[in-house]
Amino acid sequence: MRILISNDDGITAPGIRALAHALADAGHRVWVVAPDRERSAHGHALTLGRPLSANAVALLPPDEGQLAAEVAGAWAVGGTPADCVKLALDALLSEPMDLVCTGINRGPNLGTDVLYSGTVAAALEGVLNGVPAIAFSLDSFTDEGYARGARFAASLVGQLEGKRPWPKDMLLNVNLPKLMGEGYAGVASTRLGVRRYADAFERRRDPRGRIFYWLAGEAMDLPDIEEADTIAVQQNLVSITPLQADMTRHSLMGELKGLNLGL
Ligand code: MN
Repeated sequence: MRILISNDDGITAPGIRALAHALADAGHRVWVVAPDRERSAHGHALTLGRPLSANAVALLPPDEGQLAAEVAGAWAVGGTPADCVKLALDALLSEPMDLVCTGINRGPNLGTDVLYSGTVAAALEGVLNGVPAIAFSLDSFTDEGYARGARFAASLVGQLEGKRPWPKDMLLNVNLPKLMGEGYAGVASTRLGVRRYADAFERRRDPRGRIFYWLAGEAMDLPDIEEADTIAVQQNLVSITPLQADMTRHSLMGELKGLNLGL
């Protein structure tokens, strides 16, 4: 298949190198179009007020012990993850893509966090342009787990390839557990859980005495949501959540009509 790969950690991140080389090694034609620097938590932002640079680059090999297969092309873009996918599909690539894959992100994209995620937004941008997409994230901030995650990604893409045609709007959010035990315990089809952060802002004083705030905090997952993605990765299960762009709350449409909100 022809696969476009992007991310929000930047084109030199270990996760995108592992993913791109693993998919290329599995026989796919792979193009990489990714931000020239880290753009995590930029959500679905687009760059409108300035031009976008796009420089052809050589994708760095993956970290030691991983496959280094040839990719068809790579560009570093001076924009957001969504910019990258939109630009790639509209302007950079001369042939249509069968699939967009994003990641493998450094850190999870679980529950309500998907709304901030550049990794998920880049995949969604594929779907908005008529190309099915899969976002991959690793539930760890260390460099361990990308090789295994990339092998799983290539295997998943291979299995899905045998089940085509897919819905054009297929959008899968895959979270890979951190390294624990021998291998993954299995694969779970999940829904988005709810993730909140305790003590999110740290309040500090700068060298000139001014107060500033820094967003950080400890993730707190609501425990009692059945089949939640947040719980699955804790159980060493690869979590796969099907997502959709339509955020309409259909159940409230009728109630709104009933309010008779006339002028
Ligand atoms: Mn990221």
